Amino acid sequence: MCDFMNKDQLAFYKGQIERHIVELEERLNSQASQAIATDTNEMADEIDRASIEEARRLELNRIEHDKLHLRNLKGALRRISEGEFGYCESCGEQISLKRLQARPESRFCLECQSTKEFNDNHVFRRVA
Ligand SMILES: [Zn+2]
Repeated sequence: MCDFMNKDQLAFYKGQIERHIVELEERLNSQASQAIATDTNEMADEIDRASIEEARRLELNRIEHDKLHLRNLKGALRRISEGEFGYCESCGEQISLKRLQARPESRFCLECQSTKEFNDNHVFRRVA
């Protein structure tokens, strides 16, 4: 059970996460329609086509990133309802409140996140 946070704190994080989910879903909806709208024009020359393709690729990367973020936020909501919010999924230790404030969707404590990042060879912005 989540015993290092009181009800008000949990409600605060829940509200923050829910707001974030709404924002992301709105952005995803407009991004998806934009990506379709910037479909390559037959009349565009090679250079234009290349830059349009590049812009589209970046846009799709952003969409993928947002989708992943959305999944993490929804996972955090589920953990709140299951009373597991705030605990590291790997070692079971409490995640620091400072870290949760910056990223309420955090699933791992700083230590496990660092190990995981090292293993994944993938760098995320770190919040202590
Ligand atoms: Zn941990």
